[in-house]
Formats: sequence, structure tokens, C-alpha cells
Amino acid sequence: MIEPKDAAVRRAVKPVICYPVETLPAPNMSIYEEARQNLTKIDEVLAPARDAAVFKVPVGHFFRISSVEGSQVGDLNLWNANDLNEKFYTGKTRALHGTHITTGQQLWSSFPQLRPMATITHDTLGWYGIDEYGGSVHDVIGTRCDPYTHNLLAGGQYHHCCHSNLSRAMGENLGITAQEAESHVHDVLNVFMCTGFTRDTGQYFMKGSPVRPGDYLEFFAEIDLLGCLSACPGGDCSDEHSSDSAQCHPLLIEVFKPVDRTLEGWKSPAVNGYNRGHGL
Ligand SMILES: [Zn+2]
Repeated sequence: MIEPKDAAVRRAVKPVICYPVETLPAPNMSIYEEARQNLTKIDEVLAPARDAAVFKVPVGHFFRISSVEGSQVGDLNLWNANDLNEKFYTGKTRALHGTHITTGQQLWSSFPQLRPMATITHDTLGWYGIDEYGGSVHDVIGTRCDPYTHNLLAGGQYHHCCHSNLSRAMGENLGITAQEAESHVHDVLNVFMCTGFTRDTGQYFMKGSPVRPGDYLEFFAEIDLLGCLSACPGGDCSDEHSSDSAQCHPLLIEVFKPVDRTLEGWKSPAVNGYNRGHGL
């Protein structure tokens, strides 16, 4: 293809940030920091390797996803526990916070609520930053591994992709079939997964996760949450996913209650202020 004469000039235009976050209400991290100093564990559940587990987190509580036994990535779905129509919105979270999220950033919910569902309050992989390949940890770009894309690219019927694991676990939780539960499953936060886009072709890549047993990602529940976490069949995602060849490990989910009288000054976020007139 022939370039126009002013191609270089057009390419040299400086980018601007689509959604500057200076006006985004910033979470008061000192409130969470104080609250997390004194926590009581009230629940724990293990997401087995190549499988998923459902968990509940009451508003105002914390939850942690921890690596145990070996390097492992997880695919996380979140819903408003009182209304499954309000669910985690990866696309808008990405638009606001970038491709990967860490301490101080929030997981936003779908329209029309569009409010923070959870705030990341601690990330033991926060040191990783962005590596020489453009890779980073905890992405909101990779959707979730699923048997449909696998069928498209490789053929065959693989049943332990994160999409199926999440569908089975949610189906069991709701007393419906995995097929019926599928429509509740949505794009995920890829916990511990190290990903990016190649510089030359812009393709989504993954590489062996830097997560090690003992590492964890901690969240504060801004609303009552129902969560579902799949321990991805890709293991640490150093090679491939959507098969039984990778070494896989479970992931631990723990729920914590802060001591009473902390969280002073914190309020559960209200739903979005747009009046839904849509110009009519
Ligand atoms: Zn997966």
C-alpha cells in the first residue's frame, strides 16, 4: 500500500489519554490500610486445579486470592451478590485504569450501575511493573480461555477451560445447568497472569507468571459480592492453555472481616448518577 506524503506527520501526532482519571473519585487508601491491619478470617475456599469455586464476600470485608503449592493463574468473575445483572466490566475497568491493575485501582461494574465493586488493597506482585516485552501482571485484556475459541483454532472438545469451569461452578451454585449458567459468565480479571501485546504485531501474549506460593492479591468489597475463581488449565501460562498438558495448582480464596469501628469515613458507592434519559 502506498503511504500518503504526510504519513510521517500523521503518525507523529501525540496521543492523549482517553479517560483522564484526575476527576475519578479516588478511593481513600488510608482507610483500607488501617482496616487491613486487624482482620479476622471468616471463610476460605479452594479452587482446585483446572476447576472453579464460588465464594461470597459481604460488603465492607476483604478477600485474598493466594498462590499455594505452585505458580498458577486464575480467572476471576464478580457479581453484585443481590443482583447478578450487575457484574464486573473488564472493558471499562481497562479504559479507566489501563491493561493491568494493581493496588489502589478498582474493579468497575456494568451499566447502568457503573460503580466500583472492589478495590485492590494489596498486591505482592506490585513490584513487577512493566517488563521489557511490555508484559505486566493481573490483566483485564484476555477475556478468559474458552472451549469455543479452542474449537475454532484447534478443533476438539476441551471441557476444563476457565469459561467452562466458571459455568459449572456457577451452575452448581445457582441450581441450574452449566449451559444455563454460561450467560452469567463474563470477561475476567486474569489474576497473576503475565500478559501484554507484542510491539510488532499487536498480538495478545502470555508468559510464565512471576507468581510464587505465598503471593496474594487482596481486594476490599465495596458492595456485597458473589465471586467465582477458576484455576486456569494453563497453570502458570508459560506455554499453553486449553489442554491438560500444563502443570496446574489450586488457588486459595480467603475472606476477612475487619475489626468493628474501622472503615470510618468509608461509604459503599452509590450507583452511577446518569438519569438514563438517553435523549428521549
Ligand atoms: Zn484460563
